[in-house]
Amino acid sequence: MNKLPKNPANYTPLSPINFLERASVVYSDRTSVIYNSTRFTWRQTYLRCHHLAVALRSRLQISKNDVISVLAPNIPSMYELHFAVPMAGAVLNTINTRLDSGSISTILRHSQAKVLFFDYQFASLVHDSISLLMERNSASPLFLVLIDELESPKSSHLGLLEYEELISSADLGSSELPPLADECDPIALNYTSGTTSAPKGVVYSHRGAYLSTLSLLLQWGVGNEAVYLWSLPMFHCNGWTFTWGMAARGGTNVCIRSSSKSDIYKAIADHGVTHMCCAPVIFNLLVDATKSKVEVLTGGAPPPAAMLERVEKLGFHVTHAYGMTEATGPALVCEWREEWNRLSSAEQARLKARQGVSVLSLSEVDVKNVGTMASVPRDGKAVGEIVIRGSSVMKGYFNNEEANSEAFKEGWFLTGDVGVVHPDGYVEIKDRSKDVIISGGENISSVEVEAVLYRHERVLEAAVVVMPHPHWGETPCAFITLKEERAKPTEEEIIAYCRRNMAGFMVPKKVVFLEEMPKTAMGKIQKNKLREMAREFGID
Ligand code: ADP
Repeated sequence: MNKLPKNPANYTPLSPINFLERASVVYSDRTSVIYNSTRFTWRQTYLRCHHLAVALRSRLQISKNDVISVLAPNIPSMYELHFAVPMAGAVLNTINTRLDSGSISTILRHSQAKVLFFDYQFASLVHDSISLLMERNSASPLFLVLIDELESPKSSHLGLLEYEELISSADLGSSELPPLADECDPIALNYTSGTTSAPKGVVYSHRGAYLSTLSLLLQWGVGNEAVYLWSLPMFHCNGWTFTWGMAARGGTNVCIRSSSKSDIYKAIADHGVTHMCCAPVIFNLLVDATKSKVEVLTGGAPPPAAMLERVEKLGFHVTHAYGMTEATGPALVCEWREEWNRLSSAEQARLKARQGVSVLSLSEVDVKNVGTMASVPRDGKAVGEIVIRGSSVMKGYFNNEEANSEAFKEGWFLTGDVGVVHPDGYVEIKDRSKDVIISGGENISSVEVEAVLYRHERVLEAAVVVMPHPHWGETPCAFITLKEERAKPTEEEIIAYCRRNMAGFMVPKKVVFLEEMPKTAMGKIQKNKLREMAREFGID
């Protein structure tokens, strides 16, 4: 049997491009993308991507493995580039739109991007980034392609080329698109947000992207009538792979420029949204009930159980996932178990706040003592570092040997997150290894202290970080934002509340009230900034 050959009839390299090719045939007249009054079908989306890919090669001389960057919100062109760029044999680099010009020019230089597609909204940011790039003597030429809209201020134009014009100029007779030779070829380059260290360029393969996409569709239960709302930026891990996933299901992409409360509720009401992804911070916007059930996949930061319970009462059914850029988005999903339906809503939320079990595209997840690489016991108590391996782990960091040698050990990717494994096999995060607080020899999980603070009726957001302490070495310092109404609690009241609800050694020694939390573009609280503030308090 081993002698039966691999041939074109039984083997083609795995690539998300196949999802779009199939969608153009199987779901040809179904709506692929909705954006304001614009509508495309899957056939049209395929043709637009194909034409754009041809134009990239014939007009801009893009060849295999060239990097193409994009700075755009969740608009149709951003979606199309997820297919057009790999169809041209190139690598897609979506850039976080909240970065400053210094960081953007660093990414353009490090990635050696050949083209930058940008939305008119970011014209001045691009102008500043390119000026910096030129100051730094970047030798490689960069084509700029403007993504325009009717309402764009024409004075902001600085692109030499225009997106729609590029698509319509494709000379279809001039060049064939190259077939994918190897499924391990790169498809995307995503820079980490750098909450713990300088941004690193994470490379995904076609194969990894394909398998991650299918796993998530399956484990989240996305059917082929899905109406998917783009509340999660596509620049974040390619929208946790649902950019490619909607083509696999022939679903409808509802594009919105911003994820404001009114935009989200309007899209749900107007288009019958069935699915959306978001970071837990977006839950603060979800305060009204929905008419029909909306499936929400959340991750990127720990969702406090109290928040999950509140949002589910409004009609959002939440699935919790945990992951990172290096794992092509989600690595663990808190798969629901039938028997949990009989539990109280608070108990259900507590179980759901755990990070869960591995996605299908990973072959293994474990929690280990990374010194010895021994697994910790599955008792829900012993802590270790979460390690993963399998097809959805990145190929590696682009041009960064040092980071690559630190990230992998004995065939595992080290996540840098500290957690436990419960007897039922579900993993629960306790902290990032850099965030663990060791007070008088006891480990304190900031996530556990935060979970208690989130249960306080006045608390909107809570983040707990380490603060130096003359006696205990380290001690927790809590940063809090409050809900608006009624009288505000005092620091003493919050500390007394903590004393009643957690072990004495875990109680924050200081509570700081903030108007607003420092956050990343994903809405993730920037604990590094809070740690710096807490360090000052510790010295006082
Ligand atoms: P960065 O590492 O720069 O913040 P990522 O977006 O890749 O960029 O962040 C991944 C990290 O986010 C994980 O390592 C973990 O610490 C945290 N994280 C992601 N999802 C969850 C979750 N569901 N629960 C707790 N922490 C999470």
